[in-house]
Amino acid sequence: MIGLTSAATVIRKQLAAGDPAPQLADYETARASFRFEQARAWLDGLPAGGLNIAHEAIDRHADGPHGERVALRWLGRHGEARDYTYRELRAATNRFANALQALGVGRGDRVFGLAGRIPELYIAALGTLKAGAVFAPLFSAFGPEPIRQRLQLGNGRVLVTTAALYDKKVAPIREETRLEHVLVAGGPGLDPTREDGLLDLDALLKEAPERFTIAPTDPEDMALLHFTSGTTGKPKGAVHVHEAVTWHHATARFALDLRPDDVYWCTADPGWVTGISYGLIAPLTVGCTMVVDEAEFDAERWYGMLAEQRVTVWYTAPTAVRMLMRIGSDLAREHDLSALRFVASVGEPLNPEGVVWGLDAFDLPIHDNWWQTETGGIMVANFAATDVRPGSMGRPLPGIEAAIVRADAEGRPELSDGHVQVVEDPEEAGVLALRPGWPSMFRAYLNDEERYARCFVDGWYLSGDLARRDADGYFWFVGRADDVIISAGHLVGPFEVESTLIEHPAVAEAGVIGKPEPTIGAIVKAFVLLHPGHEPSEQLRRELIGFARKRLGAAVAPREIDFVDLLPKTRSGKIMRRLLRARELGLEEGDLSTLETPS
Ligand code: ATP
Ligand code: MG
Repeated sequence: MIGLTSAATVIRKQLAAGDPAPQLADYETARASFRFEQARAWLDGLPAGGLNIAHEAIDRHADGPHGERVALRWLGRHGEARDYTYRELRAATNRFANALQALGVGRGDRVFGLAGRIPELYIAALGTLKAGAVFAPLFSAFGPEPIRQRLQLGNGRVLVTTAALYDKKVAPIREETRLEHVLVAGGPGLDPTREDGLLDLDALLKEAPERFTIAPTDPEDMALLHFTSGTTGKPKGAVHVHEAVTWHHATARFALDLRPDDVYWCTADPGWVTGISYGLIAPLTVGCTMVVDEAEFDAERWYGMLAEQRVTVWYTAPTAVRMLMRIGSDLAREHDLSALRFVASVGEPLNPEGVVWGLDAFDLPIHDNWWQTETGGIMVANFAATDVRPGSMGRPLPGIEAAIVRADAEGRPELSDGHVQVVEDPEEAGVLALRPGWPSMFRAYLNDEERYARCFVDGWYLSGDLARRDADGYFWFVGRADDVIISAGHLVGPFEVESTLIEHPAVAEAGVIGKPEPTIGAIVKAFVLLHPGHEPSEQLRRELIGFARKRLGAAVAPREIDFVDLLPKTRSGKIMRRLLRARELGLEEGDLSTLETPS
């Protein structure tokens, strides 16, 4: 049950009749008492000691009373469907692990995945972990160059892909990599005599035995290699270990309120950290059913999925929410979404408008939460049981100590005698910092020790994002340190300006940058994408500037507005403000490997 009070600033929650009590029922008590060891005790551990993500995700359930429950429901692009129960998924991943072992691939070896959302990719990821090897996902829409870079940086020995992707994207750069084996999924397989090491994955799996003893991995063994989204520059390779599963599982309960009888849908692609941490591992550790849709975004299809699959918990991204908002809530209302209990979003700031739109479309607010490739799991969240403040990322998870530390004019931490200064003033924006030690924390940037070391200062991990913390402990995103604008001595966060602009009925999306200007340092400039039915005009430009001024004041409101047909985004849907800036100022465009290319 939800009540909207005080001009949409707080969405108050009460338990509706029939809703299960949220697992994190009492936030304050949990924060005071929770210890990571408790979350570890929720896991099983390997029979002979050690910890392995795949055991926690599959085998423990396959052996238990819910072994026949559907673990993975795959829905193909053209209406096909395939279900895997936990037992079937155990068998398939065992076969994959055996196939790797037969190839001499094991502990510490890097297995890359390059495929769309097909079952084989999920099986490969978990099978790789069973074999004690490291799984590194690549986004299937990458071109040959980003694939080459990442295979080289990550020292890829094995690649799981499809024939079409291999031909188009890998063959041209194969010689520059150290790939030994290419496992080709979903035949028609390639002619194996054509090149060394091309293997038909289906055939390999068929031949491989169905029993496998999971490699005795240590919690600190490397398990996953995730490349960051490249929003602010060249992507970095973040190293994650098996211990991360402790946090995947704990946050599935705390932040997504997932339980074994849920039907869960995470729309993130497994080419990114969200698609693996929460699109594969976290839901399976809970033992629920997760649905995977092979197709790309399509509003009608998505609502159909939510309705037909009776999805109960849905984890998506602000870019998708904004696209659905553009279409309007009527379409949502035409579908039976009564099964839906909890909706969450990550990846970018979720504009307050989006949170409240959820009420219109689903009778549910959208719960924003914050984390990064580096944190491996959710750090700050709006919870099922607690009030939602639209525009806020929420509060730190139990066990997570988060703070705002003072930033200098450039948005970098300002040290005093080598120490960071924790900010108590709710008005002051600073760097969002976390106390290291949570289980899913990255353990390195691959081949870049120095950069890793720079993230840790005075006992804190510095996220590179700027935020505020209000008097009640809610965190509010201001901007990435690289994106903040200093205009006439004010620190302006692009998010605030973008969120204000999209409150105007004509505006669907906005990207905001600082444009250097000699007297005040920088002026605020906005790039605006209009809703269908609205045309760019000088009058609308003036109207938007006036609209923003009234709400933000002249110092923060944009001085310049350009209308655009498209905002440059990463393939995971994040607005690339650095590219807006580079294009505006005629600078080098930098690394574009993750730029979404419109189809
Ligand atoms: P790169 O580090 O390569 O520039 P990236 O930071 O976009 O790319 P990710 O690790 O995928 O790579 O994204 C994490 C970042 O996304 C966060 O640091 C933050 O800037 C942004 N982000 C994620 N969730 C939220 C959120 N709920 N609100 C605001 N920003 C968010
Ligand atoms: Mg980052």
